[in-house]
Amino acid sequence: MKVKFVGAIDGVTGSCSWLKHEASNTQLLVDCGMHQGTHDTQFKNHERFPFRPAEIKYVLLTHAHIDHCGLLPRLVKEGFRGHVYCTSATRDVAKLLLADSARQQNNDYKQHHVDQIKWHAIDQDDFSWRKMLRLADGLSVNFMRSSHVLGAAMVSVAWQTSETDGSGKPLLKSICFSGDIGCQDKTNCYLPLMKDGFEPFPNADYLVVESTYGATVRNPEHKVAQNRLAALSDAVERTVFGKGGKIFIPSFSFHRAQEIITDFIWLAEEEASEIEPMFHERRPLRVALHSALATKLCKVFGKYLSARISSGKYQYLNNELPERIGMNGDQLAKVFTELGAGRKVALPGLEVEPVSGGSQDGDRASDWADVIIASAGMCDHGPAKHHLEELGKDSKNTLITTGFMSAGSAGKRFISKALDPMSDHTGADVVEMSHYYSAHGDQTKLLDHIFNLEGYTASMRETVIFINHGEDNGKTAFKEAIANRAREIKPNDRRISEIQLANGQWFNLDTGRYEDGPRPEEELKKAMLEKGLSADDVKKLIEHVS
Ligand SMILES: [Zn+2]
Ligand SMILES: [Zn+2]
Repeated sequence: MKVKFVGAIDGVTGSCSWLKHEASNTQLLVDCGMHQGTHDTQFKNHERFPFRPAEIKYVLLTHAHIDHCGLLPRLVKEGFRGHVYCTSATRDVAKLLLADSARQQNNDYKQHHVDQIKWHAIDQDDFSWRKMLRLADGLSVNFMRSSHVLGAAMVSVAWQTSETDGSGKPLLKSICFSGDIGCQDKTNCYLPLMKDGFEPFPNADYLVVESTYGATVRNPEHKVAQNRLAALSDAVERTVFGKGGKIFIPSFSFHRAQEIITDFIWLAEEEASEIEPMFHERRPLRVALHSALATKLCKVFGKYLSARISSGKYQYLNNELPERIGMNGDQLAKVFTELGAGRKVALPGLEVEPVSGGSQDGDRASDWADVIIASAGMCDHGPAKHHLEELGKDSKNTLITTGFMSAGSAGKRFISKALDPMSDHTGADVVEMSHYYSAHGDQTKLLDHIFNLEGYTASMRETVIFINHGEDNGKTAFKEAIANRAREIKPNDRRISEIQLANGQWFNLDTGRYEDGPRPEEELKKAMLEKGLSADDVKKLIEHVS
């Protein structure tokens, strides 16, 4: 068995890992994502695949974000005829996001390529997480839930080796791909919707771990659900009932918009139990959802939020949520189903209404609504662009950030100016809440993902870690943090034998070695170490030679 990391090795996008199981002559991919960001990065979306799409038998998909599934239609266009294995929720979300992506000019595929994807939902009937699915002789896969977004899962691929255990049975080895790691854990499910990610794969020989926030330890205050709700509540009170203004929330269509709606349901529920409610007595808070895609996605949330696995437990739903919002999973799912059908939902103290159409409909919405949730999340296009221009002008209004905005985006420019005390900003206030809503675990959570076996230490093996899906500083800081934690040798921690930064070379998972010998920079590092040279010495040497 061999692995080659094709994407997400320089940066956080374009996730794609290529596996070759020679014993059964099977080639598969874990994720097939689009490169996002600068022009140079996006150019990679049009480069030739390093593999022959027709020879790939399976794609195992961790979740529906475009940087993990966005090149699937191109893969199909270029000859892939195999199946995409993922959860039903991931399939349904991916279909909508890929359809949206197919409409964009700069992509190499059209809707009919999206329609040709052959999906295999892993959770159709009698499903439990970690159920072994056979891919070929001596090759299997199992999925385990992750709390990143609806439908997200980790993927563990296992293969038979030529070694045998004590009883003569062939020994299995496995490599587990984290996908994107969410924030929820057993002791603190502070984000609205998802159950904790149940993570330990104690007998994994290899763990591939993302490192988006590998260098960041988040403020614990931001990991408290009540703090997030209090910040939201303050903004509503000050803006809507204090100044008679509007709240504008730019949001990603997938998952974030649905989380924000859920928080407003919670806010209304909390309000109802207050002695002096801020808005219940007067009138319901009116929320507009202005995003065709987010509205369609609500339907998928309606379908899966109350889904249960064979044990009878919710497949995804945060166990703490029903008590917070005063609704069970079925009731919340019904809210999303209604919204998904484009219908207004009226609850005690709260009305939520999807708005379709362009800027005129948007203007009508900003007449009647107190809160406008709109996409795209960075305000560069879609209804959010229009609302930023209109609502952003008025100092009575407040813009709440709920997600990452890249430098240079319209949203980021507005926020930077509004928060700069030296600027002449006269428009809407800004309340930053993106750190409350991040869907990516911070360094603490990532370390927990690797080391915390939750007591399953009996079958523990020494594990090799591959770090991918991060910027350079995130990866190196994370590598150091892993090494430090490994040195502590806590009794219930996983044992680590090696930490590698994922690179583009073939790695033989049976021998534990790179196929094509060490990379030049690794050779240089080794030589420097042997000769006791520093980077400065090498620089001087090079200058001397040239
Ligand atoms: Zn993701
Ligand atoms: Zn990702």
